[in-house]
Amino acid sequence: MFGTKEHLRVEGSHLFIEDVDTVALAGEFGTPLYVTSESRLRHNIRAYHQAFPEADKYFAVKANGNLATLRILAQEGAGADVFSGGELALARLAGIPREKILFNGNSKSSRELEMAVEAGVRVSVDSPEELSVLGELASWMGKKVEVLFRVNPDVSVKTHPKIATGLRSSKFGIPAPSVAGVFRKALELEGVEPVGLHCHIGSQILDVSSFVEAASRMMDLAGEVLKVGGSIKMIDLGGGLGIQYDPAIKAPVPADLASAVLPVLAGRCGVMGISPRLILEPGRSIVGDTTILLTTVNVVKSAHVTFVGIDAGFNVLARPMLYDSYHHIVVANRAAQAPEAPFTVVGPICETGDVLARDRMLPSVHRGDVLAFFDAGAYGFSMASQYNGQPRPAEVLVHGSQAEVTRRAEDYSALLAGQAVPPRLLW
Ligand SMILES: *Cc1c(COP(=O)(O)O)cnc(C)c1O
Repeated sequence: MFGTKEHLRVEGSHLFIEDVDTVALAGEFGTPLYVTSESRLRHNIRAYHQAFPEADKYFAVKANGNLATLRILAQEGAGADVFSGGELALARLAGIPREKILFNGNSKSSRELEMAVEAGVRVSVDSPEELSVLGELASWMGKKVEVLFRVNPDVSVKTHPKIATGLRSSKFGIPAPSVAGVFRKALELEGVEPVGLHCHIGSQILDVSSFVEAASRMMDLAGEVLKVGGSIKMIDLGGGLGIQYDPAIKAPVPADLASAVLPVLAGRCGVMGISPRLILEPGRSIVGDTTILLTTVNVVKSAHVTFVGIDAGFNVLARPMLYDSYHHIVVANRAAQAPEAPFTVVGPICETGDVLARDRMLPSVHRGDVLAFFDAGAYGFSMASQYNGQPRPAEVLVHGSQAEVTRRAEDYSALLAGQAVPPRLLW
């Protein structure tokens, strides 16, 4: 019914996720509501294990920081790519072992570097200055930190410009020509042990040839590192594999990535006589399609187009506004009905840009209908805000016919959290 999304189907006139009626979920827990399929999550990480049996998979926590999700991934043997002290804490709480955590970031604070050293995780160093600070900090703390170097490989990928990260002009990484020099410097520092190279070229990449190009650049750089006396124990190719948001646009799967990239790596490593461990950092392709966002229609208005006002805007799902992203929409309580007319679906936020879908063909929509947004598991809740006095929504995990709350909806008290009015303003 929904392509490869085997966790979603229509029964009667309702959309189901696993064995749970989404219309009933909306009634029981209220909307907006993020709903995640546990079986799909396990399926997705297993697809990576199958395609890359030898590689470590470090899930990019920024895509989805739900603890239950992280816990399931920990059970499935995943590691974590963390980009802040907060994400490091989440990964550790979920039980992800420190040997499988990489601390990333282009602008880490001293406090975060200290947390990384303290926790004993590996660090991906983004600049020569960070290398010196980290080296001093670690030797002062009497520790030795394994480091990778985040490389800016200068690879252009066909994706939205805001999520292309491997261009020369991007803020991430050490420019490719200086990598070997920085690596050599690290060999002389007491507090660090350089173990490899890291890149992450962008997100929602649908053409695997970009990864082949990146892998080949990384192997060029590995060769340069060997020449300056370094050794390459790890090659981290980052994340970025795209998923199928629009039913009309096909996306590669982990097996496609593996058959494109692995032969190149094996060939080049063979020639150089090295056998580094491969690391991948998938985010979106692990969690994206596991989750739907349920929302309720508040109003239908005929204007120059027909607007459908729902109870979730870019405060709940920021991607359409940030990246012009497509999210497939199904009217959950009329899921078997054919599309009839174009609707422009908008949120309740006081901004003109708060549009979730333009001119989308849907069955006729009415107040009280439940709209399900597909593929909301990556950069969905994790980007949600309280803008416009909107508490953040709940998250539910579905397992067969079971539905459990993994994050309570916030109420208005959340808007007050941490606030204090100076007493002198009280009268
Ligand atoms: C965001 C990010 C990822 C995950 O990217 P996806 O496109 O979600 O797979 C991996 N590595 C790093 C360093 C990132 O910043």
